Amino acid sequence: MSTFLAPAGRYAPSPSGDLHFGNLRTAVLAWLFARQTGRHFYLRVEDIDSERSSAESAQRQIADLEALGLDFDPPVLYQHERGTAYAQALDQLDTYECYCTRRDIREAASAPHAQPGMYPGTCRDLTEKQRALRRSELAAQGRLPAIRLRAHATEWTVQDYYRGEFTGPVDDVILKRGGRTDQAQAGDWAYNLAVVVDDGYQGVDQVVRGDDLLASAPAQAYLADQLGLVQPIYIHVPLVVGPEGRRLAKRDGAVTLRELLAEQTAGEVVADIAGSLGYAGVSSVAELLERFDPSLLSHDPWMWTHH
Ligand code: GLU
Repeated sequence: MSTFLAPAGRYAPSPSGDLHFGNLRTAVLAWLFARQTGRHFYLRVEDIDSERSSAESAQRQIADLEALGLDFDPPVLYQHERGTAYAQALDQLDTYECYCTRRDIREAASAPHAQPGMYPGTCRDLTEKQRALRRSELAAQGRLPAIRLRAHATEWTVQDYYRGEFTGPVDDVILKRGGRTDQAQAGDWAYNLAVVVDDGYQGVDQVVRGDDLLASAPAQAYLADQLGLVQPIYIHVPLVVGPEGRRLAKRDGAVTLRELLAEQTAGEVVADIAGSLGYAGVSSVAELLERFDPSLLSHDPWMWTHH
């Protein structure tokens, strides 16, 4: 039984570094949307990538979100503890083993008629005999096959609060990475599977996140459908960009909350986030919650300028 209560929204950062102004703005928006619509609000630590994630980073991110005044309903969900649930979901899906290296995919994808960014289908229709051969070739290199979804749709339509109906391609996405036989654990679970399984488990029917993830929504909603989970409403929000127009990042200077707090109070950072959302003179997230009107949010990226 899930301890999570629907309907819910969530914020789901990857703990691979401190949250910056852009992450915080998205977190505030996710909180505003959930709380304004009477939803539960959960924090999920997306730490399936064991090499890039750390428990320390997760703790710092949680402390930063709390410093801004955001509150989450307990408990915090950690993806590194969810392997059994991902394995069960994998069993319910139509899947196949994929033996391709990145290079194989790059080469096949550059062939004429290949669809850019899509898996070219190299391993989809292999015979059992071909699979046995490819598997033993991989094993000789100390590698394990990846697991892909065998998609039975080529596109899927999602509902996005700002975009309306959004239709995009559904690919044979990776569900589990290959990994190496010499590692204690087989490959990591893939983001697309984990996000869908956990949104379902946590009763999340409202997904607020940066609009760089819009393109992945159709494949995720298709996966949810295949697992018998609800189709969430998506709310993809504009990103904060640095001076060069690219997604805000460390190279853009002192952008993390920890850095900002060297010169500002948490209330001033909240005021700046509110300002970026079009609200002047706001000093707490509670006040912003009262004033926020989602229909007025600008659809343009917010340009970060250091002050
Ligand atoms: N963990 C992802 C990230 O930090 C977000 C996933 C999502 O919101 O669906 O970019």
